[in-house]
Amino acid sequence: MKTLAITNQKGGVGKTTTCVNLAASLAAQGKRVLLVDLDPQGNATTGSGIDKAQLKHSVYHVLIGANTLQEVIIRCESGRYDVAPSNRDLAGAEVELVNEIAREIRLKTAIVKLGSAYDYVLLDCPPALNLVTVNALTAAHSVMIPMQCEYYALEGLTDLVNTIKKVRIHLNPILEIEGLLRTMLDSRNMLASQVSAQLFKHYGNKVYDTVIPRNIRLAEAPSYGLSALVYDKSSKGAQAYLALAEEIIARNETNTTVTANG
Ligand code: ATP
Ligand code: MG
Repeated sequence: MKTLAITNQKGGVGKTTTCVNLAASLAAQGKRVLLVDLDPQGNATTGSGIDKAQLKHSVYHVLIGANTLQEVIIRCESGRYDVAPSNRDLAGAEVELVNEIAREIRLKTAIVKLGSAYDYVLLDCPPALNLVTVNALTAAHSVMIPMQCEYYALEGLTDLVNTIKKVRIHLNPILEIEGLLRTMLDSRNMLASQVSAQLFKHYGNKVYDTVIPRNIRLAEAPSYGLSALVYDKSSKGAQAYLALAEEIIARNETNTTVTANG
């Protein structure tokens, strides 16, 4: 089982779009996938066709210790993956956990209890470096950072990389950067190619070869509670996320081979 935190404290960079579409794309490759919504906005929940206003139990209840993850999981039938949903209740968790013991490892403990029920667990983080995000970074094997190739993107990346270093020292020594994902790319944008070049210079092979283009289908699909793969499989957006799933599977299987031999 591989747990991936999809995170970037910058808002609107494509974290949730990546979670929903990668979950569906990995499932289409035969992988067993759990998507954990860690944002009180509940966009990954809604985008998976689940009514966030009707939830009896959610990730909030898992973090405060009232429920197990198994008890809150709902199946996204169209995408063939499972969802641990969230809604605005989660906004209260930050305050309620302040004086609790082991508040940073709540999510990790809950995920460990799942055993090997899933091949991939994807954590959709909120746009903040808060306690919930720290829980995600503590629970994860690695971090995927979606980003737009803009001028300030690299600056924001430095803050995130520093947080990852701190989490590694204090809470999760195995945490690594899985990859940097370029999202909403407009191929005619000159600045984007310059930022891309900078990314490769600083982060080398951590940058995914797969690029997610700006594609209207990816923006339309959530309003139907569907991934783009189900909404319009032939769209450039859906095809890009299928390619990303293949790249991730290939990278992880190569790593396993290396470990097995070494
Ligand atoms: P937040 O920080 O608020 O959680 P986020 O990082 O999860 O945001 P998304 O919600 O995935 O970002 O995307 C922000 C907006 O951009 C959404 O309206 C989404 O539909 C749209 N969007 C995301 N990726 C693409 C894309 N590749 N092409 C076109 N629109 C996109
Ligand atoms: Mg989001």
